[in-house]
Amino acid sequence: MSSSRRGLLFIVSAPSGTGKTTLVERLVQVVPNLKMSRSYTSRPARAGEQDGVDYNFISRDRFDAMARDGAFLEWAAVFGHCYGTSAADTDALLAAGHDVVLVIDVQGARQVRSRGIETVGIFVLPPSAEILEQRLRGRSKDSEDQIRRRLDVACREVHEFSQYEYLVINDDLESAVGRMAAIVEAERARVKVMRRDAEEIIETFNVPGSRAQASGKV
Ligand code: 5GP
Repeated sequence: MSSSRRGLLFIVSAPSGTGKTTLVERLVQVVPNLKMSRSYTSRPARAGEQDGVDYNFISRDRFDAMARDGAFLEWAAVFGHCYGTSAADTDALLAAGHDVVLVIDVQGARQVRSRGIETVGIFVLPPSAEILEQRLRGRSKDSEDQIRRRLDVACREVHEFSQYEYLVINDDLESAVGRMAAIVEAERARVKVMRRDAEEIIETFNVPGSRAQASGKV
């Protein structure tokens, strides 16, 4: 079926260390026609990160200019750096019929919702605070001070889960990816999303001489 519908916009948020980026990177590998949006950030690239792949790394001045020009669908300061989603990049993907996932923090998600844009929000929780702390320590890319800050922010962010349509607990990567894939498929199967495809099929039932008409069932 060739659907020419505009893409759906998914938002994934989770406290830092929950593994949301890994989850979504895996999700877009297993679900066709789902693209992960690439954010702009003023934070310097970490070892192993690539410009134009992990993020579009830009200077703080350029970030501020883009924000001033209204180039961002949403943007926020997170842990001392600025992050934003390009409105034009997102619109181009959606207009081409791709479903898009924004992996953004809770402040950004609130901004997108407040613009009245239709979104499907998925909140990811770690199995417990203790496990989140173990994961943050285990990835050993942060100082003790940064780990404490991330945990403090997590304590506030977890309460935002009820603003989202779906909740996924990241207890095991593959099963969490499976649940997210099921959410995407369920959203794609909604009647309001499938309406055009359905109408094309229903059209074939109304063609004179069609099997349904010939059998006298209409
Ligand atoms: P990190 O520096 O660890 O890659 O990301 C830090 C935080 O920034 C994460 O919670 C991530 O979801 C959030 N983030 C990444 N890109 C964006 C964005 O474009 N907008 C917003 N609001 N948050 C973002």
